[in-house]
Amino acid sequence: MQPLIDNARTFGQRPEEFAGLAEGQSPQVLFITCSDSRVVPALITGARPGELFELRTAGNIVPPHTSGHPTGEAATIEYAVEVLGVRDVVVCGHSHCGAVGALVRGDDLDAVPAVRDWLANATPRPEGSAEDPAVAEGVQSHVLTQLLRLRAYPCVAEKLDSGRLTLHAWYYEVHTGAVLAHRPQTDTFTAL
Ligand code: ZN
Repeated sequence: MQPLIDNARTFGQRPEEFAGLAEGQSPQVLFITCSDSRVVPALITGARPGELFELRTAGNIVPPHTSGHPTGEAATIEYAVEVLGVRDVVVCGHSHCGAVGALVRGDDLDAVPAVRDWLANATPRPEGSAEDPAVAEGVQSHVLTQLLRLRAYPCVAEKLDSGRLTLHAWYYEVHTGAVLAHRPQTDTFTAL
C-alpha cells in the first residue's frame, strides 16, 4: 500500500494539467470491463482523464435489464448513454479471467456466495476448454453475451436504432498486451 500512497501524494503537484477538468466531462466511450487488476483501460487505450467512462464488474457481466430494481450497472450505462452521449460502448473481456474460468469449469463457489450469486447473472454459462488457462474461447463468447444484454437496455436500443451508438466486443490478453476485436462478418476475434 505504501508505494501507492507515496505516488498519490506527489500526483497532485501538477494542478495545471487538471484544471480544465473542472469544467465537466465529455467522454466518447463507455468502457465496460472486469475488475481484474491486470486490466488497465487507460493504459491499453492511452486515454487521458475525461476520455473513458468506465464500468467495472466481476467478470465484466452486464446484468439483465430489469425495471423497478435499481442497479449501479444500469445507472452507469444509462448515464453514459443518455447524459454523456457516448458514441461507442466497448465490452472488454480478458484472458485468464477468474470469473469466467470459474464458470467454464463449474467451480463450487459456495464459500463466496456473493460471487456465486453475481456470476449466476452469466447465463448462458460460457462454454470453452477448461484446460485452457487463458479461457479464451469462454471469455470471447461471454463478451458477446454481454453485448446482447446491453442491446436490451432501452436507452441503448434506442440509440442503436437511430445509429447514434456502436457496440464493440474486445478481448485483451493480460500476458501479451494484445487486443482482439470481434468481427461480426466472420464471427471471429482478430487483432485490432
Ligand atoms: Zn476477469
